[in-house]
Amino acid sequence: MSREQRLQELQKAGYLNERGRAFLENNQPIPNEVADGMIENQIGQFTLPMGVAQHFVVNGTKYWVPMVTEEPSVIAAAGNGARMAFMNGGIKADAQWPRAMIGEIVWENVPDVTGAAERLKQHAADIKAIADAAHPSIVKRGGGLRSQEVVIVDGRYLKLQLAIDTQEAMGANMVDTICEAVAKAVQPWVNGELLFAVLSNDADQALVTATMSLDPMTIATKQMDGTTIAEKIVSITAFAEQDVYRAATHNKGIMNGVDAVVLAMGNDWRAIEAGAHSYASRDGHYRPLSNWQMQDGKLVGTLTMPMPIGSVGGATHLLPVVRINRKIVKINSAKVLAELIAGVGLAQNLAALRALVSSGIQAGHMALQATSLAITAGAKGDDIPKVAAKLQQVGRMDLATAKHILKHLR
Ligand code: NDP
Repeated sequence: MSREQRLQELQKAGYLNERGRAFLENNQPIPNEVADGMIENQIGQFTLPMGVAQHFVVNGTKYWVPMVTEEPSVIAAAGNGARMAFMNGGIKADAQWPRAMIGEIVWENVPDVTGAAERLKQHAADIKAIADAAHPSIVKRGGGLRSQEVVIVDGRYLKLQLAIDTQEAMGANMVDTICEAVAKAVQPWVNGELLFAVLSNDADQALVTATMSLDPMTIATKQMDGTTIAEKIVSITAFAEQDVYRAATHNKGIMNGVDAVVLAMGNDWRAIEAGAHSYASRDGHYRPLSNWQMQDGKLVGTLTMPMPIGSVGGATHLLPVVRINRKIVKINSAKVLAELIAGVGLAQNLAALRALVSSGIQAGHMALQATSLAITAGAKGDDIPKVAAKLQQVGRMDLATAKHILKHLR
């Protein structure tokens, strides 16, 4: 389909209204006053392509998934992974709910660190009242401070750790507000130097798990049977458990999908990245976020990772395109969005591992890479597919070859 046809199809199927379709078709920029209010020293806008991945069925609901990425093949691979899951009943996912975000308040040079720790524990009820008063709106929404922990770190730092239910928001600002208010109010009980009070991006109380169970027959390729592919996917994941070089790339493949949706939904992808990688190293060794096993003849994939996503707050309601994307996914809940994103991460992972253990990763990348090279070489309009096709035919994917082909064509 052409881009216009895709937009029309989405509109026809009820995922876009007329305004949304026209907005996307015209590549409308962010209104200047919005952009100016979002960041400092604004001088322009940086656009990236946005696509939709198809075939996603998560917890029985079908989704079109908006994805923003600069990398060729990511959206096709996500759809391919989702297609294989769809043939096996779709993806199941469950996000921790209620969830909590962690805030840390840390002091140093505390004259009596053990006594101060004891006093903080004794004042737990007062701390709860201070936290609630610092952000009453989140308490009214059913959230707020859930638990407190006092820890002495390295014998010299005193830490008060707060777990705060931020409801539908990712919660960085509200956690920071609460931490700063609590830090100030408890100062007389600590009597040390405040070092910092801020959110932790190690969001291990906002976890999500996605799973899929696949009949090996459904993941076969033209060159390799499904059972062999399934066994190799299990084996490459076991290798990644032992090898940090592979684990990093394994997880990058997952984040290809995760980040693209997080970005499309106006959320903080650095927070999701930081949380993912700290969770991947939670036992002191960096490991793959997903696990693939053979169970009763099925290939079973599981992805567990922190997903501190917001359906409100931050840029989610500022960016017009995010408002449209929310209509495309038809999700207004942070829990359901977290479950969909984890499903995308797992589908992306399946597609990458399947390609890697069968035809190799470059085969799937070839067509789009050829197009990118053709454009970089200066091809325009009808010349782009011609140069791309010739590049694939020649089988040498480099800029010099693309330029050479273009010169001959012209
Ligand atoms: P906001 O500061 O935008 O706060 C959330 C807003 O959503 C509040 O105004 C709140 O209303 C409103 N809201 C409406 N409905 C709900 C609901 N059901 N549940 C919860 N809130 C609701 O965003 P966050 O606090 O979520 O902070 C996220 C932003 O912080 C991101 O942009 C992130 O990039 C940034 N950030 C990230 C950091 C990090 O990751 N380390 C550090 C600092 C900032 P009300 O005012 O009535 O409560």
